[in-house]
Amino acid sequence: MAQPTHERVDSPDASTVFEYHDLTPPTTADIYRARQTLHDHLPRTPLVRSEWLSAEYHADIYLKREDTLPTGSFKIRGVTTLLANLDEEFRDRGVVTASTGNYGRALAQAARWFDTEAIVAVPEGTGQNRIDGIERLGGRVKVVGDDYDDSADWAAKIAAEEGYRYVHPGNERLVIAGTGTAGLEIAESLPEVDAVLGPVGAGSIGAGYSLSVGAVTDAKVIGAQAASVDTAYRAWQTGDLVPQEEADTFADGIAARVPYALPVQVMREELDGMYTVSEEAIVETVAAMFREEHILMEGACAPPFAVLDDFREDITGKTVAIPVTGRNLPTAKVERVMASR
Ligand SMILES: *Cc1c(COP(=O)(O)O)cnc(C)c1O
Repeated sequence: MAQPTHERVDSPDASTVFEYHDLTPPTTADIYRARQTLHDHLPRTPLVRSEWLSAEYHADIYLKREDTLPTGSFKIRGVTTLLANLDEEFRDRGVVTASTGNYGRALAQAARWFDTEAIVAVPEGTGQNRIDGIERLGGRVKVVGDDYDDSADWAAKIAAEEGYRYVHPGNERLVIAGTGTAGLEIAESLPEVDAVLGPVGAGSIGAGYSLSVGAVTDAKVIGAQAASVDTAYRAWQTGDLVPQEEADTFADGIAARVPYALPVQVMREELDGMYTVSEEAIVETVAAMFREEHILMEGACAPPFAVLDDFREDITGKTVAIPVTGRNLPTAKVERVMASR
C-alpha cells in the first residue's frame, strides 16, 4: 500500500514543520487530559525535600525526581502523550526524530508501548552506549550527518517521502502538555509552593510547567538556560526567533541552537522569569548535587539550581520545587564532574 506523503509547510522559526504540526498552544485542560493518558504508563515521580538545599538557602526546597522515570528523563511524559494520540495512519507507519539523547530514547520506549516503529537519526560520532540505549528499546538508529542539523534534515526528508510522523524537537503541543503533567503533580503534593524553577532548552518544561503548576497555584514559574546556548532566553525577551551558530555546552540536554515558535510563544505569555548561568556554575552544580545528595544528574538539570544563588534573599522562608530532569550523564562527563569535586 502506498503511503500518503506529507508536505513541509512554511515554518515560523528556523526548523522544519509539517501541516500536522498544530502550533496552537496547549491549555491547562490539555495537561489534565495528558495526565489521564499517562496514568496507565508512568508512575507519579517522587517529590523529595532536599535537607542540604533547604538548610543552605533557609527555605523549603523540594526535588521532583523526573530522573526516576523509564528511560531516565522527563521526556517520556511528552512523547508518550504524543504517541497515545497519534493518527492511525502514522501508527501504521511509524515515527522519526533526530536526537543524540533523551528524546530519542523516550521515543523508542513509547513507540514500543504503542506498537509502532521509531527511527532515531543521530550524527556521526554519537557514543555507542547512546545508540545501544535506543536500540535496546526497539528503536531503529540511523547514523547520518556531521551534526544534529544534518540528522534532523534527514529525518524530515524521510518523513516527507515515506510517510513517517516527524516528531518535532519543540513545536509539539502534546509534548508540552505531557511534560506539564509533572507540574500538576507538584501542585497537588505541594499546593503552598511559591516558586518552581526548571531548565530550558527547547522549552517544554518552561511552557508545560507554566500552564500547569503556574496556572493552578500561586507559584511563580522560572526558567534557566546555559549562558552559552541561550537562544530561548533571547527569544523570550525579544520575541525574535534567532538561532545561534553553534550549540556547545556541558549541558547537552539543553543545547537547543534554534528557538522554537510554540514553546517560546507560551513562555512569553506565561513564564514569570528566565535567567542564564555559566558553564562553570553548571559543572559545579552537578558536582555539588553528587557530593551532597548523592544524585548524579545531567548538566541539563543544573541551571535552575545554579540560579538559586542569585536569589538568596528572595527565597528565604519560601517553598521551592525544582525538577531533576534526567540521569543520563555520559561517562566522559561523569569523569569531568568527579575531577571538579
Ligand atoms: C530535554 C531536556 C531538558 C530541557 O527540556 P526542553 O523541553 O528542551 O526545554 C532538560 N533536562 C534534560 C535532562 C533533558 O533531557
